[in-house]
Amino acid sequence: MHGRGGWSRSARVAPFSLCPICNRPAAPRPENRSYPFCSDRCRLVDLSKWLGEEYRIAGERTGDGEKVAGTPGDAEDDG
Ligand SMILES: [Zn+2]
Repeated sequence: MHGRGGWSRSARVAPFSLCPICNRPAAPRPENRSYPFCSDRCRLVDLSKWLGEEYRIAGERTGDGEKVAGTPGDAEDDG
């Protein structure tokens, strides 16, 4: 028996990466200045997401109806 292996495994590499926002094929950089996004719109979407996160982190100190757990007098000393 001879001739083992040799089957070239063609790696299915996408010609271009996928847009992380809409998962659509994003053109490479030379022609797509919004890379790795498919379009400028998706790039802005991602940007706004980042800004939104920052806003949330910045305004985290706002206690929105969250009270401190006041221990109820349940545990009584029953002598
Ligand atoms: Zn996109």
